[in-house]
Amino acid sequence: MTNKNFDTCTSFHLDNGAFLGRFVRLDKTINTILEKHQYPTQVASVVAEFTSLAVLLSSSMKYDGLFTLQTKTDGPISMVVVDVTSEGKVRAYAKYDMDRIERAKELRKTTDEIEASPYLIGGGYLAFTIDQGDKAKLYQGVVDVQGKTLSEIALRYFKQSEQIDTHLKLFLQMPTAENPKWQSAGLMLQKIPQKGGKIEEIENFEEVWNESKIYLESLKESEVFDSSLSSENVINRLYHANKLVISGAKNYNFACRCSRDKLLNTLSGFDQKNIDEMAEHGKITATCSFCSEQYVFDKGELLKH
Ligand SMILES: [Zn+2]
Repeated sequence: MTNKNFDTCTSFHLDNGAFLGRFVRLDKTINTILEKHQYPTQVASVVAEFTSLAVLLSSSMKYDGLFTLQTKTDGPISMVVVDVTSEGKVRAYAKYDMDRIERAKELRKTTDEIEASPYLIGGGYLAFTIDQGDKAKLYQGVVDVQGKTLSEIALRYFKQSEQIDTHLKLFLQMPTAENPKWQSAGLMLQKIPQKGGKIEEIENFEEVWNESKIYLESLKESEVFDSSLSSENVINRLYHANKLVISGAKNYNFACRCSRDKLLNTLSGFDQKNIDEMAEHGKITATCSFCSEQYVFDKGELLKH
């Protein structure tokens, strides 16, 4: 069942526009992504958390094209990719080594997969890319994977690369007996760079900013994942005293951009030797990493393409 209070990202601002906020809640989007893959719980947790982060980050950037959040690391989960189009289409996948995940679990002696997110990723980097086709240059931001939580890693990026003061909290709901679904969410607040003197007009600016973090920290999972509460309601409970203005909401849903033609083009770029190696009884099967859709080609079809 679709829940109208989820799969949206709500934008708001506080204190005369001094602080910009985003609140994302995902349900169907994340469940559809995870159903395509049948990941073990630990991998599903990481993908769910990354997907919320990707939607939050993409919603705070102006672009017309594709936003991609990607890790490349040396841990048991060596790669996570989430891409979000400017129309709100989301897809994601991860590469992992199940034996290493099992070993990591034994070493850590914890069952808290949620906190284990960066631990399972290992060391490496996290990259944000915006591809707007020919219209603009490719934008890329990169940060080392360092921190106890995914929020800490993302905050490092904002501090180092963007120099934007940011508060961020991510939430994850694993399936339970009462609610057998995944849900993920996140709330992000950013200090907008000073424009038109708005920030100077606020007395005790730093104090107000620090207070907004305390409110964010007080936000509970039970509220975030309460399906009867609208996102506006959740935000209003936290920031009603901060001249809150809800400025809009955007819907998100799963969609894959793969197609038989696209794969045919990619595979046709391979030389004959590779094609021969891939072929089984004259057929080549290619599986989309994002949606697990299988495409079968005749060997001859690739060679003459
Ligand atoms: Zn696909």
